[in-house]
Amino acid sequence: MSSERRLFLAVALDDDSRHALAAFVSREDLPEIPGRRVPPGNWHITLRFLGRSTQLQQEKVLAELDQELVHDPFLIGFGGLGTFPYPKKATVVWLAVAAGGDDLVDLAVSCERAAVAAGFDPEERPFHPHLSLARVRPAQNLTALVDEYPPFPGRLHVDAVVLYESITGSGTTVYRELDRVGL
Ligand code: ATP
Ligand code: MG
Repeated sequence: MSSERRLFLAVALDDDSRHALAAFVSREDLPEIPGRRVPPGNWHITLRFLGRSTQLQQEKVLAELDQELVHDPFLIGFGGLGTFPYPKKATVVWLAVAAGGDDLVDLAVSCERAAVAAGFDPEERPFHPHLSLARVRPAQNLTALVDEYPPFPGRLHVDAVVLYESITGSGTTVYRELDRVGL
């Protein structure tokens, strides 16, 4: 149906964190991250990918999130770089979450409950908190980059779950914030 939207739930970066991370990854004393970079305006930490959804499913998941999100706001700290699926054949380069990862897992569990209660199929894959920075095609061996890259010293205040629409297809993917549920 053409009215369906591609949706996902995520933690957003505030402007200060975005600018600090953008400055960090472009530091000249650090190795350049290869591949097709995710534009800083698109940086986020996915909690639950929902995929194509109707307006009704969108409303349901927001209502369920209102019930499920009983968490208090929290801080996360970052690590260095990691890759999917693994460093020797990396196709995605991401920034690791080093502190507060357990809180993010709790949040992802609540998002999963809300999604299933709203009628989405259960997620089979384990949740791995990360912030995608680049896509690498073809895959590269990035073992050295991952080993030498220092941790990003910034902190992120997590105080909401954001529902995004992902608009793909015409060049750069654009994310549009549709709603947010505060913690
Ligand atoms: P593009 O696909 O155009 O390269 P993108 O992957 O950022 O861009 P989407 O595919 O819409 O855009 O994905 C939105 C978010 O959901 C991203 O964080 C992506 O990693 C994540 N995501 C996409 N598909 C899945 C999936 N099947 N399972 C889990 N997470 C997913
Ligand atoms: Mg994608």
